Amino acid sequence: MIVFDEVNKFYGDFHVLKDINLTINKGEVVVVIGPSGSGKSTMLRCINRLETISDGSLTVNGISVGDKKTDINKLRRNIGMVFQHFHLYPHKTVLQNIMLAPMKVLGQSEAEAKKIAQKYLEKVGIANKANSYPSQLSGGQQQRVAIARGLAMNPEIMLFDEPTSALDPEMIGEVLDVMKALAHEGMTMVVVTHEMGFAREVADRIVFMDEGRILEEAIPAEFYANPREERARLFLSRIL
Ligand code: ADP
Ligand code: MG
Repeated sequence: MIVFDEVNKFYGDFHVLKDINLTINKGEVVVVIGPSGSGKSTMLRCINRLETISDGSLTVNGISVGDKKTDINKLRRNIGMVFQHFHLYPHKTVLQNIMLAPMKVLGQSEAEAKKIAQKYLEKVGIANKANSYPSQLSGGQQQRVAIARGLAMNPEIMLFDEPTSALDPEMIGEVLDVMKALAHEGMTMVVVTHEMGFAREVADRIVFMDEGRILEEAIPAEFYANPREERARLFLSRIL
């Protein structure tokens, strides 16, 4: 579903992604870890073309992301993204936040969008907050709204960039639980996170990045018990 083939990316002279090869199949959950600045966010952002690649090829569902003829809106409609900071619209209610894109981009009627928004709010466990404003919610609740908003577009792929890093510890679990449920339903997910419990429970593969390269790919049990790369060992010894 997502194929990086010898992808390189530069920011000016800075070589941020180096010879990235990675294939993610439908229904797979891939967790990306690595030190700060190793290129995790950049790699994720290339998938929905928030960043452009410099060379190599990147395809999503067989569609070339780099191709100038590719309809970017169509590509992005199929890919939900959840960020560290929730990026909700502060002056819109929870329900309005979720209804906006389906109405604007998918052309849903207000009634239809509302029904779907309510369905996803129930799914993430905060149906009772539909008419609240983001500032009235906890961080964990806001992040669950952000996930519901992504899901309301009915995407085939969900990208998560450190979705729990900005949360107080007691709220991390509720967000991870929503993500676990999604994973168990077969959503294709690429998740940048250092949450080992999540990775062990639902990841099909761990991808370890360092200085713009994928240094190691392994199943979680193997990776955490016995990372092959010295730098992965060092990294794990620092975060665990
Ligand atoms: P990570 O998510 O692993 O922390 P990033 O992908 O955010 O890493 O960043 C990788 C490197 O690229 C960092 O050194 C960062 O400073 C640099 N970088 C990120 N975005 C830009 C940009 N827009 N312009 C120039 N350099 C950038
Ligand atoms: Mg990052």
